[in-house]
Amino acid sequence: MQTHFSLEQLKDPVTAEAERILRACVHCGFCTATCPTFVLNGDELDSPRGRIYLIKDMLEKNRPADPLTVKHLDRCLSCLACMTVCPSGVNYRHLIDRARSHIEKTFQRPWQDRLLRTLLGAILPYPQRFRFALGAARLAEPLRGVLPRLGRSGERLAAMLGLAPRMLSTPRSEPLEAIAAPAAVARVALLSGCVQSVLRPDINQAAARLLAKLGIAVLSPNGEGCCGALRYHLGQEERALRQARHNIDLWNAEIERGGVSAILVTASGCGSMVKDYGYLLRNDKSYAAKAARISALTEDVTEFLAKQKLPPPSQSLRVRVAYHSACSLQHGQKIEVEPRALLRQAGFELCEIPEGHLCCGSAGTYNILEPEIAGKLRDRKIANIEKTASHLIATGNIGCLTQIASGTRIPVLHTIELLDFAYGGPRLFALQQHPD
Ligand code: SF4
Ligand code: SF4
Repeated sequence: MQTHFSLEQLKDPVTAEAERILRACVHCGFCTATCPTFVLNGDELDSPRGRIYLIKDMLEKNRPADPLTVKHLDRCLSCLACMTVCPSGVNYRHLIDRARSHIEKTFQRPWQDRLLRTLLGAILPYPQRFRFALGAARLAEPLRGVLPRLGRSGERLAAMLGLAPRMLSTPRSEPLEAIAAPAAVARVALLSGCVQSVLRPDINQAAARLLAKLGIAVLSPNGEGCCGALRYHLGQEERALRQARHNIDLWNAEIERGGVSAILVTASGCGSMVKDYGYLLRNDKSYAAKAARISALTEDVTEFLAKQKLPPPSQSLRVRVAYHSACSLQHGQKIEVEPRALLRQAGFELCEIPEGHLCCGSAGTYNILEPEIAGKLRDRKIANIEKTASHLIATGNIGCLTQIASGTRIPVLHTIELLDFAYGGPRLFALQQHPD
């Protein structure tokens, strides 16, 4: 693609990088058919190619974002399905992130929108605040049916209430370190995260139990916080990078103390973010090298387990499992084989979901901010899952887990919970009804 940035504009390394990405696009349109919003709306401006043109125009002219551009870029899920099929290697991810940051700096959103985004950024990354908000959401549940009558803001609030679980797990007082194997041969850091630690603390407990069986001790540095992904995708770049730097300092201190061989993540949306720290902080002289080291050490928990020698499973369960490959895992981290192979090795019968490349509509806070498209994608995903006649759904991302669970009675579990069970972990509540 031809671009027309001035030499002055290209002195800025961030603009120069955006120009390099834009020039790689050959407008072939291969990406359009895999884009969930184009599949739903059939509008070129809701396709990757259409969005690339909007971004090019906005950045090249260095003009404030306009409502049309904001509308179509806001509708992008950042699912990165377009990157998987692009023959030219266009790094759409870094381009849309650059555009989102430009929008936040130059566009005045309606006040209700600004308020909601500020609240999401101020609540979701902080487990205590999030737990409190979920309590309030339960009290407001009776209003869910009438909220959509209040317009777009009401629809968003109703979507938020619909995602809040009816029951919350009790917060864990037992630290993950307490599960570690006494004769540990290796030590890894396990990101505790924010939303997942409130909604499903059992997921990291399952990971720590399974790792302990392999002689791998787990630590979670005190004070570790959100990876920054939630704020980053809301366009709150500086705050997100502050969260990233905070975690980098904590993990680096552990690495320097000696003995952390990997940083493991059980929420693939967070894993995708941490693996990108090196890129995001490349222009920060004091953090570039440290961030690159952290990114290089980061692995999804299934990526790590696939390299370990696992014993034969100690409990088997003849159930059909539909494996939902989270976008941040399959497109963001290119991890497709490992979770499937681990589940099969553990004795589960795996079913492939039709249109498995399409997003379920979760996408961080997308299901709150764009509830209509997110709802259509969720229903489409569930209809495809139901075609497999599976007993369970497995996935590797808390966002997908919550989104899919909000629309089906089929139990949705994290891949690691199923693996933990197969290798001797406690029987899962979701499996208690099953005759085997
Ligand atoms: S597939 Fe790649 S090169 Fe083709 S239009 Fe899409 S982004 Fe551009
Ligand atoms: S990231 Fe997903 S939603 Fe956004 S343009 Fe690419 S395929 Fe479409």
